[in-house]
This record gives sequence, structure tokens and C-alpha cells, in this order.
Amino acid sequence: MRLRNIPRARGVLSAHPIVMKDETIYKGRWQQEFGNDHPIHMEIGMGKGRFLLTLAAQNPQINYIGIERYSSVLLRAVEGYEGYCGRPGLLGVEELPEDLHIYEKLPKLRFVCMDAVDLADVFAPGEVERIYLNFSDPWPKAKHAKRRLPSRQFFARYDKILAGDGRVEFKTDNKELFAFALEEVEAAGWRLVSSTWDLHHDPVLCEGNVMTEYEEKFSALGNPICKLVAERGLPW
Ligand code: SAM
Repeated sequence: MRLRNIPRARGVLSAHPIVMKDETIYKGRWQQEFGNDHPIHMEIGMGKGRFLLTLAAQNPQINYIGIERYSSVLLRAVEGYEGYCGRPGLLGVEELPEDLHIYEKLPKLRFVCMDAVDLADVFAPGEVERIYLNFSDPWPKAKHAKRRLPSRQFFARYDKILAGDGRVEFKTDNKELFAFALEEVEAAGWRLVSSTWDLHHDPVLCEGNVMTEYEEKFSALGNPICKLVAERGLPW
């Protein structure tokens, strides 16, 4: 997803407290930033953010971080957050009010505008418990395979920041990308915990499933949704 450039996006993001600035300074102290010792879960490529907003509302005992590369897209997630807080018009104003209690509704949610290539600059080893990849860009040309978020190159990056029992959960409707991801889990030396080519008809894996914007759109077209869960290490 790449929305047209939105000139005001940078200004809104840099003024909004839910968007972390100078994110590298939080490396190794994200829990301190959240003010607790709860686990950290992140979505990489969060798009407009409905998935994370829903999870953050459902699970106040988890710290959530949404990562998105494009400011124009992250702006939509911030607007979604504002809508959730009942302030849909707030981002139209010139300056945010000083007494804005921005974390009042979802105190365990933060957004970061960054490329996931740089994850190890922003998160310390073992700092993250779970990574969600939802409807990641397919990069269909073979020469771009290493840009795919479920590629062995990215699994090596996830390896650097995940806790020992950390996991990656990946959903897509793109069968080629899913087949690629299954191969990459093995090539990266990770363990496939579970997988399905039709999530919405898999009563076990679909339990508690939270739909993303893309998931809703593509499943409405009749596309089956694929999902895998992967961990590091050898089979038990
Ligand atoms: N996860 C959302 C969903 O399921 O509705 C959005 C899916 S959208 C197809 C993929 C998103 O991932 C885009 O917004 C894109 O900008 C973002 N993205 C792709 N590669 C990224 C990277 N290396 N780092 C951060 N974000 C990335």
C-alpha cells in the first residue's frame, strides 16, 4: 500500500504523541517507555492499523507497536486512532491541545514510522515477543525476493530482536507469497508451529482471529486467507 504523498502527514506525525520520534533512543527500554514489564507485540507493515487498534483494545496486558514505512499510510492509522478516541476531527486542527491525554484510551499502543530493515537499530535482542506480518507486499519479481517481509533475510532480522520463545505470525491471500514463506521458514532454520491455506475455515487457527483491512477486502472477494505461525529452534 502506498498512498499518494500527503504533504501534512510529516507535520501531523511529528506532533502526535502516539508516533515515536527518534525511535533508536528507545532501544532496550521500550518497556520503560510503556511503564510496565508486559510483553511487546508488533505489526510490521500495519497499514491503516485496524488490526493493532483492535488487539490493543482487547489486550491491555500487552504492549503493541505498529511499524509502517510510509508517512502517508501511518497518517491513516493515526486518524483511525483518533476516531477510536472519539476525536475524529482533531487532526484537522493546527496544533494539538497541550492537555491532550493521548494515551487515555489505548495506553499500550505506539506507532513508529520506519523501514523494518532497520529493526535491530530500534529494538534490543530479545525485546519483542511477537511479530505480526499481515498481507505483506508480495514483491513478485524474483530479484526482489529479499524485500519480502517473510523472507530469510527478514527472518534473520527478526531473530535479532525476538525473545527466545518469540514467534512470527503471517497472513496473506497471496498463495505464491505464502508458499514462498513456508519455504523460507525452513531455509531460515525456524520451526513451523502451524499453518493453513484457508484460515477462515480452520476452526482452531481462526479462533480469536482479528481481521485486517486487507483481509476483509480480499476475503469478501472469496479469496481464502493463508496463515502460518513460526518459531525459532528445533522441533520439541
Ligand atoms: N497490514 C495491513 C493489512 O493487512 O491491512 C496493510 C497491508 S499493506 C499491503 C502492506 C503494508 O506494509 C504497506 O502499508 C507497506 O507500506 C508496509 N511495508 C512494506 N514493507 C515494509 C517495511 N520494510 N517496513 C515497514 N513497512 C513496510
